Amino acid sequence: MLAIDTSHPVLVTGATGYVAGWIIARLLESGLTVHAAVRNPSDNTRLAHLDKLAASSSGTIRYFKADLLSEGSYDEAMAGCRIVFHTASPFTLDVRDPQTQLIDPALRGTQNILDSVERSVTVERLVLTSSCAAIYGDNRDLKQTANGVFTEDDWNTTSSLQHQPYFYSKTLAERAAWKAAERQSRWKLVVLNPSLVIGPGLNPHATSESFNVIRQFGDGRMRFGAPDLGLGVVDVRDVAEAHLRAAFLPEASGRHIISGYNTSLPALAQTLLPRYAAYPIPRRTLPTWLVWLAAPLTDRSITRRFVRNNVGLPWIVDNSKSQRALGLRYRPLRESMHEMFAQLIASGQLPKH
Ligand code: NAP
Repeated sequence: MLAIDTSHPVLVTGATGYVAGWIIARLLESGLTVHAAVRNPSDNTRLAHLDKLAASSSGTIRYFKADLLSEGSYDEAMAGCRIVFHTASPFTLDVRDPQTQLIDPALRGTQNILDSVERSVTVERLVLTSSCAAIYGDNRDLKQTANGVFTEDDWNTTSSLQHQPYFYSKTLAERAAWKAAERQSRWKLVVLNPSLVIGPGLNPHATSESFNVIRQFGDGRMRFGAPDLGLGVVDVRDVAEAHLRAAFLPEASGRHIISGYNTSLPALAQTLLPRYAAYPIPRRTLPTWLVWLAAPLTDRSITRRFVRNNVGLPWIVDNSKSQRALGLRYRPLRESMHEMFAQLIASGQLPKH
């Protein structure tokens, strides 16, 4: 049983987000006071699900206005907190200006949080939502690993502003956090590196790219087949549980790969077929040469370099540290896929069949 200290409030940045929603749910049900940092505290539509959670739990939620790009704007929200969960960072793959849309909020935003932590007199632990994107840049990088598997010892060295800029943004942000943490001993950094997060959202209309990835299995974009893209996935509720353990297990330290399954797009599609056969779920794997040829024509964000370095290549991580050090148990893949797909239908993001 996890011992949760409820004597101090905790801060969650990016509280409107997909991942943050389930973290806040767990914190509120544990009786904590959550300082929820959001860009717009008067946007009731984006906060309704959090208000509902607070109303049915023993915890309390307080909203604070803060922006990653506005220096010092998290100071007030951080006041009195021992634990800070920094989840805020844009997760979007289709960008026109990666510097302003991804790198600035991720890197300057994390620096902003680190500066507030430095100024704070109460913060003891910063739990950073990094990503497997800070571990690897392309599936091809697997060949450079020590044992043919990505581990917490690996760092993404192949992404850039031009190639895989979201991956680059997460790498820069996590590196900045470690640099600041290693300069001092007053507070501790614990990092989580989830793979693609799936499963139902508390707010089904969150901006997360996760919804777009799963929606494409049912909206016809993959009706001719799925590219053989290897990737890892993890349920959003398991990611939230990992955050709580990273925050409240005294011995938690370092990076943690949080990933339930080494899988691929065609294998994910297979999990949906038995129940959702009426949808244009991809039933076959597209030949990689065809994906290479068609990619930039059908989707601006998928380059031939991306296809060459990722499609047809396996993706394998070692998630044993998360199980050993955090005691994490991963829920079945099919359950996460089915529940997310059902939610996309119920919320009108996929048609009813
Ligand atoms: P999300 O639903 O889009 O949440 C992103 C959050 O960041 C939103 O609350 C958003 O606030 C906030 N944000 C963006 N720009 C901001 C700014 N300039 N100032 C303040 N807040 C800002 O995405 P998510 O999937 O939950 O991602 C949350 C975290 O998990 C990110 O750090 C992401 O990199 C990480 N992660 C996600 C996945 C995944 O597959 N989903 C996997 C690994 C890691 P607004 O509501 O105001 O836009």
